[in-house]
Amino acid sequence: MRLLGVELRRVDLGFRRPIGTARGAHRHRAVVYVRVSCEGVDGWGECGALPEGTAVDPALPEVWRALVAGGVERLFGATRSRDGLLPPAAQVARLFDTTATGRMVAAAMEMAVLDAELRAAGVSLASRLGTAGTAVPAGALLGVPADRDPAALGAAAAELVGQGFRRLRIKIEPGWDVAPVRAVRDAVGGHPLQADANGSYRWDAPAGDRADARRLAELDPFGLDCVEQPLPPADLAALASLAERLATPVGLDESLTSLRRVVDALRYGACEVACLKPARLGGILATRQAQDACLSAGVPAFVGGFFDTGLARAAHVALAGLPGFTLAGDLSDPSGYLEVDPCGFRPPVDGIVVPPEDPGVGHAPDPLVLVERTGAVERFLYRP
Ligand code: MG
Repeated sequence: MRLLGVELRRVDLGFRRPIGTARGAHRHRAVVYVRVSCEGVDGWGECGALPEGTAVDPALPEVWRALVAGGVERLFGATRSRDGLLPPAAQVARLFDTTATGRMVAAAMEMAVLDAELRAAGVSLASRLGTAGTAVPAGALLGVPADRDPAALGAAAAELVGQGFRRLRIKIEPGWDVAPVRAVRDAVGGHPLQADANGSYRWDAPAGDRADARRLAELDPFGLDCVEQPLPPADLAALASLAERLATPVGLDESLTSLRRVVDALRYGACEVACLKPARLGGILATRQAQDACLSAGVPAFVGGFFDTGLARAAHVALAGLPGFTLAGDLSDPSGYLEVDPCGFRPPVDGIVVPPEDPGVGHAPDPLVLVERTGAVERFLYRP
């Protein structure tokens, strides 16, 4: 495929309601799309970076700058060395550095090139990954309610279970843990449930008396699938010690920043459940490898996202059909939390999603929505 150019576009979307986490409330979702234009076909990539970033992921403006300042040029350089032909998607991630920002850039560029490659070949991502036709169970995420009312959370959880979602994740933090977990347990019975702490507890808090660890142990009777990222991401040794202490499996999310890190965490015994996020790991293909590592280690994994639009969500559904993803990922319809999803998504039916069969990664963004919502655009013409 002969490369013609690349377009970067930031669209500004709103959440239907603020989404509360231990690190504050998300109110807006700006999303960057990468469009790779080739002769006869365009490929689209979605960048996972959140406007404010996370503890381990760069904020969107930083990723945008990296794309503009050299990211696109790296793809152009690789194209020049192939006489104007777009490099295969499998070679794209390695064009970028392995910093957190570099991996986000790599993931977005890889998705765009992969989408172009698949569209040109008339093949869906699921066919490429070997997951076409797989029935994929979908989970759903509940943020901290604005009024911090456990009963309201329980009611919302029961509603999601009624809609068929196979697994629920709720957000917890010190002071908002036992009560919400109990309320949701009471509301949904034995339904698969996990709690995501986003690194908000401390192994040595407040004075080495393991008060937070004891608090987390109070969640043991509720039979959670895991408590996700209970401690800050860097300290795998503390996470492994906590895992020994808790009956609830310790899940990792923010700790899993690269394939290498996934392998280390598995070896340490710090990771009893893995949340794998393609945008953070450097792309779809790196995530497939990480999923393989979890499968070999016998550690359950699920696909996580960053309040994606329908394009990345479609990629996640295709990935979630791989055998290592034994737990239901967050595969709800993005229009449940976004005012508008530029790409659209075929919602789960009775908690089951099937990977899209159309050629490519997923639906391209709707041009009308793009025009309406574009906050910034940069175009790069390929020159041999
Ligand atoms: Mg998480």
